[in-house]
Amino acid sequence: MEKLKQAIETHGKCVSDEVVKVDQIINHQVDCALMDEIGQAFYDYFKAKPIDKVVTIESSGIAPAYACALRLGVPLLIIKKAQPNTMSDPLFAKVFSFTKRKAYSICVEREYLKPGEHLLFIDDFLANGEAFKGAEELARQAGAVIDGVGIVIGKQFQNGQAYLDKHGYDVYTLAPIKEIKDQHIIWAE
Ligand code: 5GP
Repeated sequence: MEKLKQAIETHGKCVSDEVVKVDQIINHQVDCALMDEIGQAFYDYFKAKPIDKVVTIESSGIAPAYACALRLGVPLLIIKKAQPNTMSDPLFAKVFSFTKRKAYSICVEREYLKPGEHLLFIDDFLANGEAFKGAEELARQAGAVIDGVGIVIGKQFQNGQAYLDKHGYDVYTLAPIKEIKDQHIIWAE
């Protein structure tokens, strides 16, 4: 998505050869018009699939996941990073955080993930795929199926893309990064 790549080049910053900061437009302050177009791009790609629910992990994936779910006309399910005391029957999985460098539990109310449901997972970044694997584990416990993966910024030099490819997932990445060199982004084809 050219407009997204341009916005990342203009407003983003490579803080190392592994990490991109986009908190002016994507995951702290949000460019809502751009996010709307991101939702449209995911919708255009996944609309033929029988998606029952869009799933993300709080919090940075919520905006793009919402923009897509609205267009698909399906609910957005936000996996929680801490168990609210209103959650009565949770499913749990463990995730290792790329940015925080520590493991944490994620959870979802069992009644919102049903056996046989078709899910579209959306997140802001794909790095080592740990967040995805946590969602995959919850889906496995529930007997739901992940039919597609929508990623806003995919760092293809890390392990997540290879994991998704190896397991045959249909992945659509809007801004795929081949590598970061001398703090400059080199886009994948
Ligand atoms: P993964 O679970 O794939 O290893 O990492 C994905 C998660 O880590 C995303 O949900 C995102 O919040 C965070 N993340 C990964 N790489 C980056 C990055 O380069 N910049 C920022 N801001 N967040 C990242």
